[in-house]
Amino acid sequence: MNAVIVGSGLAGTIAAKTLRELRPDIRIEILGEERHPYYPRPNLIEYVAGRMPREKIFAFPEGWAAKQRIGMRPGAPAVRIRPDKNVVEVSGGDAVPYDALLLATGARAARPPVPGIDKKGVFVLRTLDDADELLAHLGEHRRVAILGGGLLGLEIARAIRSREAEVDVVEFFDRLLPRQLDPDAAAILKAQFERSGIAVRLGETTEEVLGNGEVRGLRFGSGATLGADAVIVAAGVVPETALAREAGLEVGRGVLVDDRLRTSCPGVFAAGDASEHAGRVYGIIPAAFEQARIAAHNMLGLDMPYAGTVPANTLKVAGLHVTSVGEVHAAGPGFESLVRSDPGAGLYKKIVLREGRLVGAIWMGTKKGAAEISRLAALKKDVERRKADLLEESFDFGEIQ
Ligand SMILES: Cc1cc2nc3c(=O)[nH]c(=O)nc-3n(C[C@H](O)[C@H](O)[C@H](O)COP(=O)(O)OP(=O)(O)OC[C@H]3O[C@@H](n4cnc5c(N)ncnc54)[C@H](O)[C@@H]3O)c2cc1C
Repeated sequence: MNAVIVGSGLAGTIAAKTLRELRPDIRIEILGEERHPYYPRPNLIEYVAGRMPREKIFAFPEGWAAKQRIGMRPGAPAVRIRPDKNVVEVSGGDAVPYDALLLATGARAARPPVPGIDKKGVFVLRTLDDADELLAHLGEHRRVAILGGGLLGLEIARAIRSREAEVDVVEFFDRLLPRQLDPDAAAILKAQFERSGIAVRLGETTEEVLGNGEVRGLRFGSGATLGADAVIVAAGVVPETALAREAGLEVGRGVLVDDRLRTSCPGVFAAGDASEHAGRVYGIIPAAFEQARIAAHNMLGLDMPYAGTVPANTLKVAGLHVTSVGEVHAAGPGFESLVRSDPGAGLYKKIVLREGRLVGAIWMGTKKGAAEISRLAALKKDVERRKADLLEESFDFGEIQ
């Protein structure tokens, strides 16, 4: 059997690893556009912050793929799928035959259509090549504006600030982490950011990247301007679906998959940031990991269902732990929210219940209980009887099984 994987990121690598664990005898080949062996993308943050040397970025020791008998073609993007012939065409002319094909093409950093966005000094951070280019520029430029106050934008801001650069975060919404936090939690986070020396501008639309060839700043809808000699765009991602679309597969925002991670084309599967399952494109590691493992089973005909992933995010900003899990914005009939907040101490805890079951939580300013509350939300546990106690610092989560 020939199992072929397009994309050497997390989903592609985990799928290959799982396929090998399940079947020592099959041929496994990964076609990778990037020239580097697999690295977890969060390591890019550490690298940019100067906390991780370049050689430590990679997940596996040199020669790992060969040892696993996984064929790797780095720097070899797939350019066309031919479902009629069961082959994938690779840049350079080769045609690779497959019995089962996995599309693990991930996502690209979005670049909003702002005039001047192509100027020298505007960056995204998705790949190791992006990080290298950014670091080369930061060697001589110290005023950095970050477009986007979501998870990635804030992580980048923190990383760059630790290099002693001047950092401004510009967010279109009226609060930071608009997807993960409610307004009160976001206000506490903003104060914390500002204390760490990062300026935050909310509710700003960027109308133009200023500068004559090279970046000199930003102009906003309000008319205000901001000086900057580097701009990093962290405005979300766009699933990479071109191959699937051109081959006639069904595509929404991502490549559409069913509960077995099958696309609309027989023998072709999709997993990770490129895929859309039950209306959701997750864009996070836990989902890519779970989907890749399950897709690998189904590629081998070992029936394994996928029921979705509960999104959970944890980050640490200027000493503040932030966890957001599940439906943190849910409100209305059937929903109930309980909050415990101490803004002075940077503490904010919120749980969201639907008919007594825990469906979402924000846990900020403390790590204690964060993993446990995430687990309970993932299981949609009935917590009705202990709901007030859950927010207490002294609560023993062992009491809820
Ligand atoms: C800096 C950074 C930090 C992050 N931190 C977190 C975090 O803390 N927690 C979290 O949950 N998520 C985080 N994420 C998101 C996480 O990295 C993604 O969810 C994850 O990488 C998805 O894996 P993937 O394999 O689906 O896609 P990708 O990692 O995007 O990999 C897809 C690969 O496919 C390749 N490819 C595309 N088209 C082709 C083609 N035609 N032929 C061959 N190859 C192709 C791409 O070049 C790429 O190498 C972070 C992302 C970034 C950029």
